[in-house]
Amino acid sequence: MLRHLVWILCLLLTQPTLAAKAPPIQQHYALDQVAPDVYVVHGPTEAPNPANQGFMNNPSFVVTSAGVVVVDPGSSVQTGEMLLAHIEKTTPKPVVAILITHAHGDHWLGNQAIVAKYPLVKIYAHPHMAKLVELGEGETWIEFMARLTEGATSGTRSVGPTHAMSNGDILNFGDLSFEVIEQGKAHTSTDIMLYVKQRALIYLADNANQNFIVPVEGSFRGNIQALDKAINSGAKIFIPGHGKTADASIASNYRDFLTTIYSTTRAGYDDGKADFEIRPELLPKLERWKDWSGFEGQLGQLINFAYLEAEAESFK
Ligand SMILES: [Zn+2]
Repeated sequence: MLRHLVWILCLLLTQPTLAAKAPPIQQHYALDQVAPDVYVVHGPTEAPNPANQGFMNNPSFVVTSAGVVVVDPGSSVQTGEMLLAHIEKTTPKPVVAILITHAHGDHWLGNQAIVAKYPLVKIYAHPHMAKLVELGEGETWIEFMARLTEGATSGTRSVGPTHAMSNGDILNFGDLSFEVIEQGKAHTSTDIMLYVKQRALIYLADNANQNFIVPVEGSFRGNIQALDKAINSGAKIFIPGHGKTADASIASNYRDFLTTIYSTTRAGYDDGKADFEIRPELLPKLERWKDWSGFEGQLGQLINFAYLEAEAESFK
């Protein structure tokens, strides 16, 4: 009798976590080869919702002579498993490392799936990211994703970085090297861009996006400087955080967008205007981007943030 009770208790305790995992990604997302040995699954340029199951970033992998290097495995365990399936169809080589471009969970919560298959994989990120994960960044994103997708990302757990990477580091994996390019605060305070010299290719993090507007949480001026570094890196292929891979126009176009907002807001601030008076001045200058996903939703935050930065700058 007691044995039965213990067994039922065990079942009750383990069942919720087993039952909680939501189904795999339903839609087929193609794997795009953007350079020799470099692949990207370009995610939908839209906010997380039940139909996209929270998938919205650009999970990528590079097949080196020393194994597979994953960059940003996505927003959920389901997205990470989708990427793993693509990797297994492409190469028999194991995954040896994961490189994370910044602390936003839509880029790294897929770690869980990779680690489940390769428990010893090294996960590299900005030095500050481990601290943020320790403070609950992953759980915040898991809740956010679960709410917006109505549970489509359930079963996702936070698996943070194991190694730090900093500006100027060169991470060598067999025949390919990844140069770490960092510009202090930019999109966030944890952004890492990765330059693969042998392929003239750069991962931009969310410092630049295509057809998708993201908030600035670090610094407008830092973000603009980061994009200058990317443009001058020698890269010919630019992989944005969200949206399709293309040439340097990805970085210069997003740079123009940020520069337009910051310079107009700064001029408005210097003229004694309030932030709500700057919006109507800015809108006609942002025609090029007005149909991009997230434009309406993010513009208020962007102006507010630019205004605070202009104010802080004016006191220096
Ligand atoms: Zn981001």
